Amino acid sequence: MRGLLTAAGLAALAVPAQALIGYGITMYDPSCGFGCYDSVSGFMLECSVMDHGPVGAHSHGAGGPTSPECRAGDDYFLTTLAYCMNTTCDASTPRWKLEKFWSEQATGSKTVAAKWSYTEALAQIKEPPTDQYGEDDHHLTRTVLLDPETVKANTLTREYFEQAETIHSQYGLILLIVGFGTPVVISMFTRLPYMSTLSDKLKPYLVYPSLIGTYHVRPLPYLLGNAATVGQSLYVIMFAALNIAMAAAGYKSVQPNAWFANEWQEVMGYFSARTGVLAFALTPLVILLSGRNNILLWATNWSHSTFMVLHRWVARIYAAQVIIHSVAELVLYIDMESYEAEFKTEYWAWGIVATVFACAMLVFSSLFFRRWSYELFLVGHIIMAVFVIVGSWYHVEFLFQRRWGYEFWLYAACAVWFFDRMIRVFRVLKNGPRRAVVTEVSEDIVRVDVKGIRWTAAPGLHTYAYFPALSPWRPWENHPFSILPTALLQSKRDASLSGAASGSDTRSTADVEKSGGVTSTSTPQRDDQALGGAPGTGITLYVRKSKGLTNLLANHNSLLTLLDGPYPDNPTDGVLKSDRLLLIAGGVGITGVLPYIARHTNVKICWSVKASAEGLVRDLEGPLSRVAEKDVRVGSRLDVAALLAEEERTGWSRVGVVVCGPGGLCDDTRALVTAKARTGPTVWELEVDAFSW
Ligand SMILES: Cc1cc2nc3c(=O)[nH]c(=O)nc-3n(C[C@H](O)[C@H](O)[C@H](O)COP(=O)(O)OP(=O)(O)OC[C@H]3O[C@@H](n4cnc5c(N)ncnc54)[C@H](O)[C@@H]3O)c2cc1C
Repeated sequence: MRGLLTAAGLAALAVPAQALIGYGITMYDPSCGFGCYDSVSGFMLECSVMDHGPVGAHSHGAGGPTSPECRAGDDYFLTTLAYCMNTTCDASTPRWKLEKFWSEQATGSKTVAAKWSYTEALAQIKEPPTDQYGEDDHHLTRTVLLDPETVKANTLTREYFEQAETIHSQYGLILLIVGFGTPVVISMFTRLPYMSTLSDKLKPYLVYPSLIGTYHVRPLPYLLGNAATVGQSLYVIMFAALNIAMAAAGYKSVQPNAWFANEWQEVMGYFSARTGVLAFALTPLVILLSGRNNILLWATNWSHSTFMVLHRWVARIYAAQVIIHSVAELVLYIDMESYEAEFKTEYWAWGIVATVFACAMLVFSSLFFRRWSYELFLVGHIIMAVFVIVGSWYHVEFLFQRRWGYEFWLYAACAVWFFDRMIRVFRVLKNGPRRAVVTEVSEDIVRVDVKGIRWTAAPGLHTYAYFPALSPWRPWENHPFSILPTALLQSKRDASLSGAASGSDTRSTADVEKSGGVTSTSTPQRDDQALGGAPGTGITLYVRKSKGLTNLLANHNSLLTLLDGPYPDNPTDGVLKSDRLLLIAGGVGITGVLPYIARHTNVKICWSVKASAEGLVRDLEGPLSRVAEKDVRVGSRLDVAALLAEEERTGWSRVGVVVCGPGGLCDDTRALVTAKARTGPTVWELEVDAFSW
C-alpha cells in the first residue's frame, strides 16, 4: 500500500514535467514564423486605427493600432508575411508546421483566422516583392520585403527567450528532484549492504551533533529559532547553494534584441523570470516537507522533526526567490520605463499579494509567534499559504492565461497538500468517533484511554487527537501525542481495579529510588466493556496539560475523541538492533520510550519526574515493574553522563539510546552521546524524541 502511494506520489510530482516550457510546451516554434510576424505586425494597414499609440513588443497587454480582424482580412499583410516565411524558414521546417503557425498566429490571435491559408497567401504573390516598407508609406499597399536584419533580430529574440524559459523549467525540475531525491538517495545508501560501518562512523559527526553548541531542542538565545544538526545543515547549505547556482547560471544574451534595449535588461529579464519559476518549483517541495502523510516519510528513514526543519529552511529559500523575483522585476521595469504601466495591471497586483504574504509567513513563523500561540500561528500559516498560492495563480493567469504551464507547479503543490489532508480525513474516518476515559493522574497530567483501537504496538509512533467537545469553536484543533498500547499497562489496570475495590487510592512506588512529595490521586475505574472494547485493546495517551486545549482535559468517562494516526516520529530500527537499549525519559516523555520495553530484551529505563508528577509514576507501576533494570527518580534529576559511562564500562559493543523529555535533557543527551560515539570503542545509536518540532 505504502509502495503504491509512494509510486503515485512520485508520478504526481512528475506530472509538471509534461507540461512545462521545453517539456511538452513550445513557445515560438517555428521561430522564423514569429520573426516574420514580429517584423510585419507593426506596419500600419488600411484598416489600422491611425490615432492609436505605439505598441511595445514586450507589452503584456493586447491591442494596438491594428486588430487581429484587420490583419485577417488584409491582402498585403498576409502576402508580406507569407513571402517572408517562405524565404526565411529553411527546408528543415516542415510545411505542416508553417501552416499550423499560420492558422494559430498569423493574425496575432488564436481565435481570429486569416482569410487565406499560408499556401493560399503564397499563391496570391504574382511577382516577388522588390522593395521594403518605407517611411513615406502611410500604410501597407503592396507585398513588401522585410528587412533581413530586423527579421533575424526578431527571430533570435524569440529563440533565445524560449531557450531561457526551457532552462528555467530545467533548473526548476533539478531543484525539485534534488530537494526530493536527496533524502531518498541517502536513506537508500545507508540501507545498502556493508554500509553500516561507514554509517556508524559518520553519525557522530553528521547525524547526532547540533551545528551550534548543544542547542537543538532548546531554542537559540532570543528565540532566534532552533539550531539544526550538522547533517540537516548540510542539506540546507547544499540546497541553498544549488538555488543560488540555478538562479545564477545559464544566461545567454542576443543583441540586438527586439524586446530588451541592452544586454543588462535582457539578462535581468531572464533572471527575474528564472527566480519566479524557481520559486514556483519549490512550492510543492515546501508543502511536501511539512506533511503528515508525506511520501518522504515513507520512503526514507528520516524523522518527521527533520523534515520539519527542512520545511522551514526550504520555505525560507522559497521566500528569498519570491522576494528576489519581485525586486528584479521592479528594477527591470523601472529601467525599461514601463513601471507605471505594469503597476496598474492585475497580474502585478496579485504578484504583490503573493510576495507580501510570503514575507508575512516568514515573520509569523518565527519561534516567537509559534510559542506565543501555536494554534493562532497554525491557522494564520494556512490562511497565508492559501493567499500565496492563489496570488501566484492569478499572477500567471492574468499574465499568460495558462499558455506556458507555470500553473502546473501550483497544481502539483495543491495536489501534495490535498493528498495529505485527504489521507488525514480517511484516517480519522477509519478510526471512527471514539469515547475516551480521561483520568487525572497528577496535578498536570491526564491519562486518556481510547478503547477498541488496534494499532501496532511498535515504538516511536504518535497520533493526532481531536477532542471536539472541549473546543466547540475550534473543532479542527488537534495535537500530537505518543501512543502507548493499553495492553502494555494492563497489569496496572488490574492493580488499579483491585486497589479501587479495597478502597485504597494511594500506593507506595516500590521502584522509585528517590521520592519527593507524594501526591494523592484517586484513579477512577476504567470500564473497558462500557467503552466498547475488549480488555486491553486500545491505546493510552498521557498528556501533560499546557496552556491551550490540553489545559481543558479533566476527569471524564466518555469524551468524544477522534484520532488521526498512527504516524512514525523517529526511525526505531537502529536503536532496536543494539545489544543494549538505554531509555532516558523526563516527565511525560516516558510515553515516548515505554513502548520500547516490549521490543528489546536488554533494556534499562531511566526516568526522572518532578515530585508533582508522582501520580504518573504510580500509574505506570505495572509496566515498569516488568523492567528489570530501572532508575526512576521523583523530584531529582538523572545524571546522563554517569548513565552513559556505566553502559560503556559494562562493555556492550553497541548501545542504543532513546531520549524523550524536556529540551535540556534531550540536548544534553545528544551532546554526551555524540562525544562518546566519537571516541569509541562502543558504537552508539541515538534517537531523540523531543515532543516538539
Ligand atoms: C511527536 C510528538 C509527540 C508528543 N507526545 C506527547 C505526549 O505523549 N504527551 C504530551 O503531554 N505531550 C506530547 N507532545 C507535546 C504536545 O503535542 C503539546 O504539548 C500539545 O500539543 C500542547 O497543546 P496545547 O494546545 O495545550 O498547548 P499550547 O500551550 O497552546 O502550546 C504549547 C506548545 O506545544 C506545541 N504544540 C501545540 N500544538 C501543537 C501541534 N498541533 N503540533 C505540534 N506541536 C504543538 C508548541 O510547541 C507550543 O509552543 C508531543 C509532541 C509531538 C510533536
